[in-house]
Amino acid sequence: MNVNGETVVALLSRSLCMDYLAPAVQGAFAKIGEGVELRFVDTVRGTDALRDGAEVDVALCWEPQPGHWPLMPNVRLVHSVAAGVDHILEDPTLPAGVPLARIRDPHMASAMAAYVTWAVTSGHRGMDRYAAQQRSQTWVEHAVQPATQYPIGIAGMGTLGSHCARALAAIGYPMRGWSRSAPVKPVAGCEHFAGDAQRGEFLQGLKALICLLPLTEQTRGALNADCFAQLGNGAHVINVGRGAHLIESDLLVALDAGQLGLATLDAFNVEPLPANDAMWSHPKVRVTPHIATRTAPEVIAEQTVRHWQQVCAGEVPHHAVDRANGY
Ligand code: NDP
Repeated sequence: MNVNGETVVALLSRSLCMDYLAPAVQGAFAKIGEGVELRFVDTVRGTDALRDGAEVDVALCWEPQPGHWPLMPNVRLVHSVAAGVDHILEDPTLPAGVPLARIRDPHMASAMAAYVTWAVTSGHRGMDRYAAQQRSQTWVEHAVQPATQYPIGIAGMGTLGSHCARALAAIGYPMRGWSRSAPVKPVAGCEHFAGDAQRGEFLQGLKALICLLPLTEQTRGALNADCFAQLGNGAHVINVGRGAHLIESDLLVALDAGQLGLATLDAFNVEPLPANDAMWSHPKVRVTPHIATRTAPEVIAEQTVRHWQQVCAGEVPHHAVDRANGY
């Protein structure tokens, strides 16, 4: 709290300008009749711009600066602007007892379903061939493999994965979903698999594999040679999780050997993807700049303020992260 009795929200990012959140956060605090002061520590103000850190109540983060937490000894809520929290948990100086919360947004799930539906259907139907044919004014029809013969797996059947499974099942694809534990609400038309014991059965013969896992110590490198070897020949790998889920060298070997036919990648270890990265020019790789889905600033602000009210009332924030699980 600052000297005027206002709640102090620090907007922390070492990779983004956080201005886009300001009107929505101010508006959300105004709605609950609480004064707020925003302090930006980002790519525009400088990543060391934090002043009077002891006054910070709430930290709203996307890839926050490592090692800054000791400067904010009174922070009472750490919040991600996204569904993932790997970018926050990677800092060992994050205070253990402070609630950490994340976004859960049905609109984000709908945009993700649109992205993966595009990735799957365009890969399945070979739409890149038709784009090339248009450039050469070539009218040639290619055979259509029925969706019912094109099994698709989603690794990570949470908020986003379940929504994507419903969308793809509606088209007629045989769906499989994999999560850590058995699903509380199974998705109709989707066969569920849980835990490491059922991973092999889940992967076996898939034509497309979608990664929607959170990045944790257990899931880091999950898209690797062993995984690719279990998929159907010429399978399509779609990574909309995090860059560190994918072992890029294994992907390149599998693509070049024809074991995999296509990769659609939206998340990378280094973003923006460096100019010399092999993924940019590989003929079997499609690159998008981490745009599969986004959450509107109003949703981020509304959920942050709701969680702040819960913390002030001595409650656990509704979308609190289980730090032991890492998501
Ligand atoms: P959730 O926390 O709702 O779901 C995570 C799912 O992954 C759960 O089903 C969970 O299992 C499963 N899971 C976790 N660990 C394991 C494991 N070791 N083995 C098998 N399954 C596991 O997350 P969301 O659906 O909201 O988001 C998922 C991820 O999507 C985010 O963490 C982020 O990485 C990515 N994302 C990407 C975006 C983009 O634009 N590219 C945008 C937003 C998010 P269980 O159900 O048993 O807990």
